[in-house]
Amino acid sequence: MTKIIDGTEVAAAIREDLSAGIDTLAEAGEHPTLATVLMSDDPASETYVSMKQDDCEEVGIEAIDIEIDPEASASELYGTIDELNADESVDGVLVQMPVPDHVDKRAVLRRIDPAKDVDGFHPENVGRLVAGDARFKPCTPHGIQKLLAHVGVETAGAEAVIVGRSEIVGKPMANLLIQRSPDGNATTTVCHSQTADLAAKTRRADILIAAAGVPELIDGSMLRSGAVVIDVGINRVDANNEKGYELVGDVEFETATEKASAITPVPGGVGPMTRAMLLYNTVKATSQERGVAVELP
Ligand code: NDP
Repeated sequence: MTKIIDGTEVAAAIREDLSAGIDTLAEAGEHPTLATVLMSDDPASETYVSMKQDDCEEVGIEAIDIEIDPEASASELYGTIDELNADESVDGVLVQMPVPDHVDKRAVLRRIDPAKDVDGFHPENVGRLVAGDARFKPCTPHGIQKLLAHVGVETAGAEAVIVGRSEIVGKPMANLLIQRSPDGNATTTVCHSQTADLAAKTRRADILIAAAGVPELIDGSMLRSGAVVIDVGINRVDANNEKGYELVGDVEFETATEKASAITPVPGGVGPMTRAMLLYNTVKATSQERGVAVELP
C-alpha cells in the first residue's frame, strides 16, 4: 500500500504550533506583520496573495496588502520596498512574482532587506543557505523537508533525485538535501530539461522530487520500487468538468502509486506546506528582529 502524504494535515499542525509562538510574541508585546506587494493583474498571482493574506489572518499574523499598478514604473515598486524596509512595524516583506517585464526581478530581490526576506530569495539569504547557515529556508523546499520528516524518511545516505533546477524549488532543495545535517546528508542529483535519459536518473531515486512544471512527466516506469515521491508540480490541464480544467502534478499518480512507498497528492501535498512555511518564516523574522525567543515547529 502506498502511503498518501497529507500535506494539508501536516500544514495544519505546523500552523497550530506557530500560533503558540505568536502567542509568546504577543506576551512580549510583539505582533508579527507581513507585507505582501502585488504588481500584477494576473488572476493566479492575485489568488496566491489573497491566500497568503488569509493564512496570516488565521494564525494571528497581521497582513498588509499593497497593490501597485502593473503599468507603474519600477521605481514605484522600489520606493514601496524601501518604505517597508524602513518601517519598524513590518517584519516580513514579500513581492509576489512574477513582476512585469519592465521591472528587473533580480533588482527587486536584492532590494528587500535580507532580515525581512521571508521568501529567502535575496542573494545574501541564498548564500547563507548554500553555506549551511540559513536565515530563511525558501518555503517550498523547507516544506518538503518537513513532509519527509513527518513520514519518517531517512535522508542520510539516501539517493535523492530532483527534477527541476529553478531558484525557488530545485536549487534550494538540492542545497538543503546536501547539507551536513540530520534532514540532509542525501546523495543528490539535479535533473533539468537538458538531462540525458531522465528515466535512468529517476529510477535511482529513493526520494524523487518532481518540480518541472510538466504535467505527469514522471510515470511509474520511471520510479524505483519503494521510492518516496514528492510531487511539487501544479499544472492546469483541460478537463471535461464544470471548470473546464483540473490540476495535475508532474507525476502520473495512478502508475506512480504502483511503485512508490509514499507519495504527495496534487492538490493537497506540497502546496499547503509552502503556505505554512511562509508563516513560519514570518514568525522567525519577528523573533529574530525583536529578540524574543520563540520555539519553532
Ligand atoms: P520553473 O519553470 O522555474 O523550472 C522548471 C524546471 O524544470 C527547470 O529547471 C527546467 O529545466 C525543468 N524541466 C522542464 N521540463 C523538463 C523535462 N522535460 N525534463 C526535465 N526537466 C525539465 O518551475 P518552478 O520550479 O517554479 O515550478 C515547477 C512546478 O512546481 C510548477 O508546476 C509550479 O507550478 C510548481 N510549484 C509548486 C509549488 C507548490 O507550493 N506546490 C511552489 C512552486 C512551484 P531548465 O532549467 O533546463 O529549463
